[in-house]
Amino acid sequence: MSYLRLPPATWPAVFALLLQPGMAVAAASPSPSPAPVPAPPAVPAPQSADAAIRPDAAAFDALLAHLRDRELWRQPTQEAVLQRLEELRRLLPPGDRLRELRFRALRCDWGFVGDPREQLAHAEKGLAAAQALGDGAMAASFHYCRGGAVEQLSGMTEALPDFDRGIEIARRIDDRAMLADGLALRGSTHSLLGEQSRAIPDLLAAQRLYQEAGRHQDAESLLLDIAVSYRRMGELAKAGEYLEQNAEHARRIGDWSQLIGNLLQQGYLAEDQGRLDDALAAYEQALALGRRHGSRYDIASAHLAMAWPWMQRGDHARALALVQRARTEFATLGDETNDDMVFLRLGQAYAGLGNHKQAMVYYALSAEALERSNNRRYLALLYRARARSERALGQDDAAFADLERYIDLHDAITGAERGQQAQLLRSQFDVDRQQMENIRLASEQALRERQLQALLQARRWQWVAMALAGVLLLLLGALVVRQLARMKRLHEIATTDPLTGVDNRRSIEQRATAAVAGAHEAGAPLTALVLDVDHFKSVNDGHGHLIGDKVLERIAATFRRDLRHFDLLGRTGGEEFLVLLPDTGLAQAGVIAERLRAAIEAMDCGDLAEGLACTVSIGMAGLRRGESLQELVQRADAALYRAKDNGRNRIEVDGT
Ligand code: GH3
Ligand code: MG
Ligand code: MG
Repeated sequence: MSYLRLPPATWPAVFALLLQPGMAVAAASPSPSPAPVPAPPAVPAPQSADAAIRPDAAAFDALLAHLRDRELWRQPTQEAVLQRLEELRRLLPPGDRLRELRFRALRCDWGFVGDPREQLAHAEKGLAAAQALGDGAMAASFHYCRGGAVEQLSGMTEALPDFDRGIEIARRIDDRAMLADGLALRGSTHSLLGEQSRAIPDLLAAQRLYQEAGRHQDAESLLLDIAVSYRRMGELAKAGEYLEQNAEHARRIGDWSQLIGNLLQQGYLAEDQGRLDDALAAYEQALALGRRHGSRYDIASAHLAMAWPWMQRGDHARALALVQRARTEFATLGDETNDDMVFLRLGQAYAGLGNHKQAMVYYALSAEALERSNNRRYLALLYRARARSERALGQDDAAFADLERYIDLHDAITGAERGQQAQLLRSQFDVDRQQMENIRLASEQALRERQLQALLQARRWQWVAMALAGVLLLLLGALVVRQLARMKRLHEIATTDPLTGVDNRRSIEQRATAAVAGAHEAGAPLTALVLDVDHFKSVNDGHGHLIGDKVLERIAATFRRDLRHFDLLGRTGGEEFLVLLPDTGLAQAGVIAERLRAAIEAMDCGDLAEGLACTVSIGMAGLRRGESLQELVQRADAALYRAKDNGRNRIEVDGT
């Protein structure tokens, strides 16, 4: 159990007992203490010291967590603890300063039980190293460890500043587990000091933190400490509730040792409430459990506890027998921590049997032990009991003095209890206020969270809108591109001859008009050719209209191939074409015209029809100053007629 990292061993002999969950407070209780060490449950077997253990960071981390959270407090002897620590040390990778610090922190808590001086020196060194490395969690841990050492050397009150400092650090770095450990430690210490109004808020806070951190074992075990604290300050109903909850937990997880501690506490509570039968029943159960598990310490504790209810019932002989058994059993175990109680009960039993002389012997022994442990509640009981025996022995002055002591102590105790209750109420009020504040902060946080969410939502919608707009733009773009393509296609359809792919009549006339105007403007030469296929009718007649079409396509393609890229070509009629040659005088145009004529004559149409051949006649005219396209083409046409007349497959130039 990690919150009891340091055995707050006021009595080194009971250190093992303190290592049990939830036992710290009960152990130091003035009532017979609960059991010491349970038989260690199944944990990974310690490796033999000879086994080769190599440095390994992952294995180190795993073993450290295991030892710290589950195993070390279960080890029955200090030797076993030291052996496990040595195994951990061997896993430590050399030069890994952070891990080394963690190892030293664990060793500080567990490696020096019974040697507080060594522990103190180790804690101081560790603290300095943690501060140098800026490791807050480890600094807190070493503060707790130093507090534990100081507690044993100088007393519980002196340990508190270290616990405070560790808690402060854990809180600052928001290390919840470390904070819970510190609060549990400090709470237990306050409880032992009788300052329940301070103990309870710490213990409750630690319990809540363990719960939140998912360390349910630790959380549930703390319930016993809380119950004891409430009982000590007279809040019996609350103590009962917590005891019940803790008993349920101990039963559920089968922790019989914790359950015995719980049952004994239930018994003391029942006694406080005057329910003797319930008290006896609880002690009987504890006894049965102790016997079943062979726990001699628990058996002795139960025997001692049972003496009081039997005395209350008037059976002092039985009570005496029980206490004597308990005394022998504790003595066999070498335990002296319950001597104060054993002697008090022995005295009371003898007094009940009328043997006041014998009673006084034990009261003296008890007083010695109680004054040493400064247990005021049981000291008060002792004074009252002793006064009775003193009266019976005729020592009235001594009886009167003890009664006065009793009254003073009783008043002081009840006054302190009342003060603590009031203090606790105040601090609970503070806790409530703090909770209100927390709720307010949480709701503000939630509001901010909602605003942030709304903002994020809005931003998400913005993105969606932008994405949609993008898609829309893309669609529009695609539409525009398609529209442009369609327009281009329409334009092509409007300007292109569908059969040959060259300009149609309307288009060639437009472009030719522009070319004529351009030539006039630039004063450049320009020549027009009018081309007509010879005897084309007979091609159609002889081979069919479809073949005629194919021939026309081929003729247009040949023209286009043999013209320059800036020459203009268009189909103006069935088998008639117009060509304009910009920047070209008649001489050069004649060469081009001849090239076209020869190309058609050489054109092979044998694949279309057997023996199919074609020729063209060409009329040519050069642009004259101020002449229109129409006039130019008329003169070229006239030349074409002459070419036809002169035998076809030839070129005639307008000579007018
Ligand atoms: P020439 O010019 O040598 O005096 O004789 P021609 O037989 O070529 O003269 P004409 O003008 O009498 O005949 C032209 C023929 O062209 C008439 C028509 O059947 C044919 N023609 C006109 N347009 C097309 C067309 O688009 N496809 C086909 N297959 N034939 C067409
Ligand atoms: Mg014709
Ligand atoms: Mg013709």
